[in-house]
Amino acid sequence: MRDDLSEKAVGLARICGRTFQETALEVLSALFEDFLPEELEGCVSHAYGSGFDDGRIVPVRRLSSDYLLELFHGPTCAFKDIALQILPHLMNCSRARSDDRILVLTATSGDTGKAALAGFADVDNIGICVFYPYRKVSDIQELQMVCQSGGNVGVCAVRGTFDDAQAGVKQIFCDAGLVGRLAARGISLSSANSINIGRLVPQISYYFDAYAQLVRLGTLTLGDAVDFCVPTGNFGDVLAGYYAKLMGLPVGKLIVASNDNNVLTDFIATGTYNRMREFRKTISPSMDILVSSNLERLLYHLSGGDCAYVASLMDQLADKGSYTVDGELLSRIQAILGCGYATNAESAEAIRRTFEQSGILIDPHTAVGKHVMDGIPAEGRPRILLSTASPYKFPADCLAALGHDTEGMSGFEAMDELETVTGTAAPASLSTLRFQKRLRNDVCDINGMADFVCSIAARTFA
Ligand SMILES: *Cc1c(COP(=O)(O)O)cnc(C)c1O
Repeated sequence: MRDDLSEKAVGLARICGRTFQETALEVLSALFEDFLPEELEGCVSHAYGSGFDDGRIVPVRRLSSDYLLELFHGPTCAFKDIALQILPHLMNCSRARSDDRILVLTATSGDTGKAALAGFADVDNIGICVFYPYRKVSDIQELQMVCQSGGNVGVCAVRGTFDDAQAGVKQIFCDAGLVGRLAARGISLSSANSINIGRLVPQISYYFDAYAQLVRLGTLTLGDAVDFCVPTGNFGDVLAGYYAKLMGLPVGKLIVASNDNNVLTDFIATGTYNRMREFRKTISPSMDILVSSNLERLLYHLSGGDCAYVASLMDQLADKGSYTVDGELLSRIQAILGCGYATNAESAEAIRRTFEQSGILIDPHTAVGKHVMDGIPAEGRPRILLSTASPYKFPADCLAALGHDTEGMSGFEAMDELETVTGTAAPASLSTLRFQKRLRNDVCDINGMADFVCSIAARTFA
């Protein structure tokens, strides 16, 4: 991918008359120069079609005086589908030789896992192996993963946190012995986490498309700036927004919304990143992250590409668990990023308030963003809140937030009750999960992850 994104400007006037698919094609073509136009066209049309339950793919709707960008209309009901529906096709086009085999490894805090499984299941010459933290994802999220069919699929719960699982995956990538043994069989490892640039680039598209939708609504005049509020964990989604800004989208502020694991809030406010704190399990589990992998990339860009400086910060993070950026870098960060966080109680309150005031049911991740956005005065620009998951992925927490007793309820009982109480409908892909068969039951310790990877490689590429 090209390093200097400002040379890759997307024509704003042009995209205002375009579909999401056309805009995605323009963004991908600008950044992936090694692909043929017809290859990218094929990738886009495979990815963004009937798997989505809304023809606009990422519809924008009004939310009192702001806007909501709904990113959960894909097959697994979370925004990660936008990237993971297209990533397998991009990887297939970019394989050096047609018989090269790829094993994709992913750590998930809940949503990436299923989105990656849905994208990669039964893709030829690619295997997919997903690790999630044992008992730290929702019932529905777990079922979505363990019911995934496909002969090239591995799903394993890891005893530990998401950060442990992510560190375990990184360690496997660095295990020269294992990587060598796989390479001898023509298998290379790849990642489907948001550290993979093929995940980030497709996400840039919806920032542009949301802007185009607001121009068509008459809310924006071409060239007006807009703010985005982004519920965040690994910082991938925010980074995609920053890339959109570099590519010419008039972005005012990107508001970084965290839950109780508010490392990023403190970092943006003070310049000190300190992961040495208690890990908190929240009702927005996909954001329960203390080491935001993609922040390093923002630091790289904002320090003017000073690799040595960024590497020294990352070394400090690894060695003592914290680092502090210099004052100049901090002011550049603060010029672009706003920040805030929401506790569980505040997120629940945001769900209740939003439903009462607008009749719109939001999920606990989106609710974190809603609380944070409401706490920051609008600076005269329209604001778009990224809605990252369907509330029906977290039905019990949504129902409880609306004031209902969920004691002893299963995920599906909560789903049914949530439909009745709100008069909204659960996506079919979630409500029919109750009839599906649990296909997998693997659990391992951190140091058992490598063995699991080997077993999936053996099975997939037998
Ligand atoms: C992954 C996820 C997030 C966080 O996205 P990042 O790119 O990791 O910042 C927020 N909400 C939901 C529902 C998610 O699945």
